[in-house]
Amino acid sequence: MDFYLLVFLLIVLAGSILVYVYYLKEKKEELDSIKRGFCPRCHHENIELVDRRGGGCSGALLLSYECADCGYYNSFAVENDGGCGSGKCR
Ligand SMILES: [Zn+2]
Repeated sequence: MDFYLLVFLLIVLAGSILVYVYYLKEKKEELDSIKRGFCPRCHHENIELVDRRGGGCSGALLLSYECADCGYYNSFAVENDGGCGSGKCR
């Protein structure tokens, strides 16, 4: 394989990993902010849970939040705490 092509691929790979890690970090900070009741964008206490999907025994839960002030909208995949052993299953 061409050496320069290999280096190029490594740079692209490293770049996409960095972007992904940064994305996850930002997503986590936004979720932390929402859990405390604040909108991550405008920091008002107007963040609302607008949609909730999944859950049950499958584990993952998709929560969608929306801010009434600035229109911020985002979905977060969270682990369903408890699972089948907790008796929360429906
Ligand atoms: Zn907002």
